[in-house]
Amino acid sequence: MTAKRKVCFTGPMRVNLIGELLRDAGCELVLGKNTEDFRTYKYERRELVDLIGDCPVVYPSGRDIIGADILDSCPELQAVVKSSIGIETVDVEAATDLGILCCNSPTPENYLGVAEATVGFMVALFKRLKFNEAFLRAGGWKEMQNRGTLMAGRTVGIIGVGRIGRNVAKRMAGWDMEFLGYDPYVSQESVASLGIKMVSLEELLRESDVVTLHVVLTKQTRNMIALRELKMMKPTAFIINTSRGPALNEADLTRALNEEIIAGAALDVFEVEPTPMSNPLRQVDPTRVIITPHNIGANPGSSEAGQRMAAQSILSILDGKVPETVVNPDAIDQWWQRFWS
Ligand code: NAD
Repeated sequence: MTAKRKVCFTGPMRVNLIGELLRDAGCELVLGKNTEDFRTYKYERRELVDLIGDCPVVYPSGRDIIGADILDSCPELQAVVKSSIGIETVDVEAATDLGILCCNSPTPENYLGVAEATVGFMVALFKRLKFNEAFLRAGGWKEMQNRGTLMAGRTVGIIGVGRIGRNVAKRMAGWDMEFLGYDPYVSQESVASLGIKMVSLEELLRESDVVTLHVVLTKQTRNMIALRELKMMKPTAFIINTSRGPALNEADLTRALNEEIIAGAALDVFEVEPTPMSNPLRQVDPTRVIITPHNIGANPGSSEAGQRMAAQSILSILDGKVPETVVNPDAIDQWWQRFWS
């Protein structure tokens, strides 16, 4: 058996390394609406199904949702491959039921970039960087009450102790801080060498001076931090979210910040992206909130590395080989039966 060497790019970008790599390897590319001119474009179901057509692989952009209805209507589709770590825009469960492989691209450039950025957020929050900078620009000078906090001896709570969560602890190993972790799928032994103590979510929220979210977005993690959880935190504590916006309830966070239930926050991700101008979070005291446009972990190598990894995954699949990046290994047997046996 052989597969057609056709790959559907639902939202191609102008600078497109993966496109070059696949063309060089003899693939035909089917291109949808690009993400620069059509940033918020939403495909109709029929339009997307027709675009994917008989392509065995779809490479969706972050803008486009690959739901069960799409997967079910593309009988020749073998795999969905993303160049990012997050794959929540694909219905992985439905893909697994259909024997369709789903792959992400967890490159070190990507996850280390986010871990480094998280440390940066932490320092900026503890040291009150935004407040003091704004104060100086407005004519102020150093004042006792505007000092930051010593980070040594403080506790970092890591929710989601995967690649990024662990690498935050690894990077901060010499900082004399305590690390608590919450992750139902991670054992204490597997993170003991990083100095992370696994605890319940409630203990983590109550004990931490900064809580940092590094979960994948699932039914369980969606909205996992809302007002109830924010109220468990210390009034002096900060929260950071570089994972996925919907894990943290933005309306509740806005209230918690305005009512000083917690001290501050740093967010790189939002419930709706791009976050609208009307988002009330934009009105919260800017010296206590840092907001960045889902790019704080990005670096010149991260996009290229993700595209290279995705290209390798795609070429493996087109040769009937299972790439290491498969996130739904339960689909493999059916994939093989359906397309290659
Ligand atoms: P990962 O898969 O290595 O780690 C995620 C962890 O979340 C896993 O250990 C998993 O067990 C845990 N988890 C799952 N359900 C949970 C639950 N109910 N409660 C607590 N923990 C739970 O992923 P990663 O590479 O560390 O990425 C983490 C997050 O960062 C993902 O959401 C990813 O999409 C996001 N990310 C963001 C950016 C950015 O630009 N801001 C870049 C890369 C990744």
